[in-house]
Amino acid sequence: TPVLRAKDLVKTHHGEGAPARAVRGVDLSVRRGEFVAVTGPSGAGKSTLLHLLGGLQRQDSGSIWLDGMCTDRFSEARWATERRRRIGIVFQFFNLVSNLSVADNVELPALLAGVSPKQARAEREQLLDELGLQGKERSMPGELSGGEQQRVALARALVNHPPLLLADEPAGSLDSKGTREVTRLLTRFHQRGQTILLVTHDARLASAADRVISFFDGRIADDAELDRVPPRG
Ligand code: ADP
Ligand code: ADP
Repeated sequence: TPVLRAKDLVKTHHGEGAPARAVRGVDLSVRRGEFVAVTGPSGAGKSTLLHLLGGLQRQDSGSIWLDGMCTDRFSEARWATERRRRIGIVFQFFNLVSNLSVADNVELPALLAGVSPKQARAEREQLLDELGLQGKERSMPGELSGGEQQRVALARALVNHPPLLLADEPAGSLDSKGTREVTRLLTRFHQRGQTILLVTHDARLASAADRVISFFDGRIADDAELDRVPPRG
């Protein structure tokens, strides 16, 4: 079973002004171990798609399966539980809890998932080491650079070993050094088997993926597996 599957997803935003038809019928399947980038211009609907796939917003119609499990009838509470177990999310603006230390930010999702404090601490230590953040445990997010905050956010997203990592413009507020760093880290986690769905308008970041989906006007315009061996005929 795919880690994630979506069928006929549709979402229209009703804000001020004309309704925005952000996602207009999307079919998508992400297999275990894939690194998929969804790329396209600003306003194409990429972020909305990611929010639907992570259960952060609800689709108007269509279906989403997580590890083969249909999520359509999930309550908000059920989505929150399944998300905590199965999906790590990183955002453009990190979304760290500003009044919690780095260590507490990373441990929180583990504690919320029922992991023992001791185990949460061990997971946190390992991830922060791996991400080059040793010594920053007691810092507050606001004391860190953007690149460091995004690494903390990555640690938080991965602390429960989720089968799926969703990344929404993870380099969108970083400089070129931070962008290279995020690219390198996503590539490294992918090489270790992490399934990743990345949404970005940044072509360089997208090229780190092994499958690039071009998104335009709420629809998939192209879906290309890089290095794909052509089928034999
Ligand atoms: P992208 O991530 O590709 O830039 P978005 O999904 O953010 O695209 O936006 C797609 C369209 O939906 C845009 O026209 C945007 O203005 C609109 N939109 C996104 N979020 C909302 C919202 N919460 N309320 C109203 N309109 C929205
Ligand atoms: P919820 O109760 O909706 O699960 P939390 O209080 O657990 O939310 O999440 C706190 C912050 O972490 C929020 O900004 C939320 O967007 C973000 N978040 C929620 N789930 C995840 C996740 N699986 N990985 C990373 N960040 C998350």
